[in-house]
Amino acid sequence: MLRTPQRPTSLAVLTSGGDAAGMNAAVRAVVRAGLDANLTVYTVYEGLQGLVDGGDRIRRATSESVGGILHQGGTVLGTARSDDFRTPEGRRRAAKNLVELGVEALVVIGGDGSLTGANLFKEEWKDHLDGLVAAGEIDKEMAQASRRLTLVGMVGSIDNDMFGTDMTIGADTALHRIIEALDAIHSTASSHQRAFVVEVMGRNCGYLALMSGIAAGANWVLIPENPPEEDDWEESMMNALRAGRAIGRRLNTVVVAEGAQDKHGNPITAEYVRSVLADRLGEDTRLTSLGHVQRGGAPSAFDRYLSTVLGYAAVEQVVTSPGGEAQLIGLKEHQIISSPLMECVEQTRAVADRIAERDYETAMEMRGGSFRDSFNMLKTMVRAQPHDPEPGQRRLRLGIIHAGAPAPGMNPAVRVAVRVGIDKGHQMFAIRNGFRGFEAGDIHEMDWMSANGWASRGGAELGTSRHQPRGRHFAQIAESIEKFQLDGLLMIGGWVGYQIASQFKEEAEQYPDLNIPVVCFPAAINNDLPGSEVAIGADTALNNIVSDVDKIKQSAVASGRCFVVEVMGRDCGYLALMSGLATGAERVYLPEEGISLADLEADVNSLKIGFRLGKRLGLVITSENSDPVYESGFIKQLFERESEGLFSVRQSILGHIQQGGDPSPFDRIQATRFASKSLEYLIDQALSDAPQSAFMGLQHGRIVFTPLVEFPNLIETDVHRPKDQSWLSLMPLAKVMGRPGSQAL
Ligand code: ADP
Repeated sequence: MLRTPQRPTSLAVLTSGGDAAGMNAAVRAVVRAGLDANLTVYTVYEGLQGLVDGGDRIRRATSESVGGILHQGGTVLGTARSDDFRTPEGRRRAAKNLVELGVEALVVIGGDGSLTGANLFKEEWKDHLDGLVAAGEIDKEMAQASRRLTLVGMVGSIDNDMFGTDMTIGADTALHRIIEALDAIHSTASSHQRAFVVEVMGRNCGYLALMSGIAAGANWVLIPENPPEEDDWEESMMNALRAGRAIGRRLNTVVVAEGAQDKHGNPITAEYVRSVLADRLGEDTRLTSLGHVQRGGAPSAFDRYLSTVLGYAAVEQVVTSPGGEAQLIGLKEHQIISSPLMECVEQTRAVADRIAERDYETAMEMRGGSFRDSFNMLKTMVRAQPHDPEPGQRRLRLGIIHAGAPAPGMNPAVRVAVRVGIDKGHQMFAIRNGFRGFEAGDIHEMDWMSANGWASRGGAELGTSRHQPRGRHFAQIAESIEKFQLDGLLMIGGWVGYQIASQFKEEAEQYPDLNIPVVCFPAAINNDLPGSEVAIGADTALNNIVSDVDKIKQSAVASGRCFVVEVMGRDCGYLALMSGLATGAERVYLPEEGISLADLEADVNSLKIGFRLGKRLGLVITSENSDPVYESGFIKQLFERESEGLFSVRQSILGHIQQGGDPSPFDRIQATRFASKSLEYLIDQALSDAPQSAFMGLQHGRIVFTPLVEFPNLIETDVHRPKDQSWLSLMPLAKVMGRPGSQAL
C-alpha cells in the first residue's frame, strides 16, 4: 500500500546568492506561516555556508525574531557565496546539521545558483544519510526519522530573469532605484543639454534596462536579448538622437544593460556608447554606472507584498506536498503557482545559452509576449518623428479625457496614447479639465512632442474633474464632438468617468453625436473599478503609504505607542489591506468587512496583551469608509481609553499625499501597456461598422476589454466598488502575518 508522506514537523529558511530587497519580508512570511502551521522553524545565517557551519548559524525562530525587518533592504540573515557547499563533504556536513536538529524541509530564497546547489543537496540527501550512518556520525534511527528532505525555492534576484515567476523578489525595488536615478539625471541633463549613458544591471537579461527605459522615457536602450540589427548600429542610434535634438528635445539618455552586445556577440559597454556619443555626435556625454545602488534601499510595496504571499505559499507547499520533486513558488499572471524547480532553472539557463549562441530570436521568444510588446513599444516611443500615414488611410480624430481624482500614471498614459495614435496616422485631441472642459469645448490637438517629458510626471497635465454632466451638459458635449469631428474617446480615469461613459449610449438617443466609441482605462488610486485587477495609480499610492508608515513607525521606537493610520479608498479596502500587508499592520479595517464593537474590543484586548509582554509599537490601518461611526478618531479615543496606561495612541490620516508624487515604475510600465492596447482597441472600434464601447483591464495578467454595458452589472448597487475583488482572498494571510497581540510587527 502506498503511504502518503507525513507532513514535516520543522523547516529551515535561508537566503543565498546576491541579496535582493524583499528577502526579509520573505523570511518573515516563511517563519510566521510556519509557526502558524505548528512547525518548528529555524533561520539559517550566511546562506548555504550557514548550513555547512551549523552551530549558532542555525537558530530557532520565533514570531518576534522576524519582527521589525519587513522594511529593511538586503537580508538580515546574511548571504554568502559558499565554496564548501560546492563540495560533497560540505554538503554532508550540512546534512548532519539538519538531521541533528530534525529539520525535514528547506526553504531557499536565492538565485539560480543557490537553487541549483540546494537541489543537488536534496537529490543526494539519501546518500548523505547513508554516509553519515556508515561513518558513525548519526545513528540509524536519526537517519530513518529524517529520510526525506522537502525543498521549496523562491527567486530572490533583482534581474527578473527566472522562469517560473513573472517577477522575482527584488526586481521591482531595483526598478525604483533606477528610476529615481534616471529622473534625477534627466533634470540635470535637460538643464545643460547633455547626453547621459546609464549602465544598469542585467548580464543575461534586459528586463531592468528595458522597463526603466520605458518608465523614464529614455531615448535609446541596449539589451542582451535584442542587439541592434544593423552592423553600423552606432549610426542609427546617433541619427535618432540627432533627430530628437533637431525637434527641440533637450535631453538624450541611453540606458545600457551590463550584458548588452552587438549581433556578433561583441559586448557593447556603456563606456563605448559614451565615447561614440562624445566623439561622433560631439555631445558633452556623461556616464553613470548605477552598480550596487540598484540592490539597496527599502523594499518597494510590491516586493513586500510579493515576498509575503510567496513565503506563505512556500510553507503551504511544504505542509501539503512533503517530499517529491523540489518546487519553485512564483507569481504567474497574478496567481501563485508552483513549478518543478529544476525545470525553471534549466529554462532560465537556456535563454543565456541562446544569447551566447547569438540565437536572439529564440531568446526573445522565450522571454514571452509582454517582453516583446514592451520592446516594440519602446521602439515607437524613442522615435523623434512618427511614421508617415499610409496613403489613402482614414485619419481618425480621437479625444483623450480624464475624469475623477488625479492618479499617478495618467501623464505617462496620455504620452503613450498620443504617440501611438499619431504613429498610426491619426489625429489626437486633448480635452482639458475633464467633462467640464468637454462641455466648454476646451479641446486642443496634440502633436508628437506635446507630451514630451510626461513619462515620469505625477498629477494630470490635461486636468481632471469629478464633475458629472447632466441633462443639457450632454447636449454641450455632443456639440463639442460635432465641432471637433471626434471619432472616438479614450477616458483615462476613475469611477465617475466610467459612469459618464456608460450614460453616453442612453443620451445618444437624444444627442446622436454622442454615438462614438468610448474606451475607459482604469486610473484610480483606490483600485475600485470593475474588470481589472489593477488600476493605474494604486501602486504609487501604496508606495506613498508604505514609506510614510515606515517613518511613522520609526518615530515611535522608544515608546509604547499604537498608531491608527487612516488611508484612502472610498468604499474599497484595497489600499488598506495591501498597505497593511506591506507595513506589518496587526489589524486592518475594511469597508468590505465593516467594524463591530466586538472587533474593537477583541483588538484592544490583544493590543494590551502584546504591550504587557513587552511590545513597543502597535499599528492599525483603517480604510476611510470602514464604518460611519467607528472612524479613525473614534478608534484612537477608544483604544486610548481602554489601554490601561500600557500604551498611548496616535491617529494619522495620510490624506492627499497618497495621490501625489511621481508615478512608481509599475504604474508607468502598466500605463504604457494599457495606453497602447486601449488606443489600438479604440482605433479598431472607430473603424468598425458596429463600434463598441468598453472598459479595459488586467485579468490574470492579460488585457481584457469588457463591453461598457456590463458596467452596472459588475458593481455593487449602493457603494463604489466592484462585486468581484480577488484581492480579498488575501485577508486570512494578512491575519497570520499581522499576528495581533504579538510583540513585534
Ligand atoms: P545566485 O544564487 O544569486 O545565483 P551564486 O550563483 O553565487 O548566486 O550561488 C550561490 C551559492 O550557491 C554558491 O556560492 C554555492 O555555494 C551554491 N551553488 C551554486 N551552484 C552550485 C552547484 N552547482 N552545486 C552546489 N552548490 C552550488
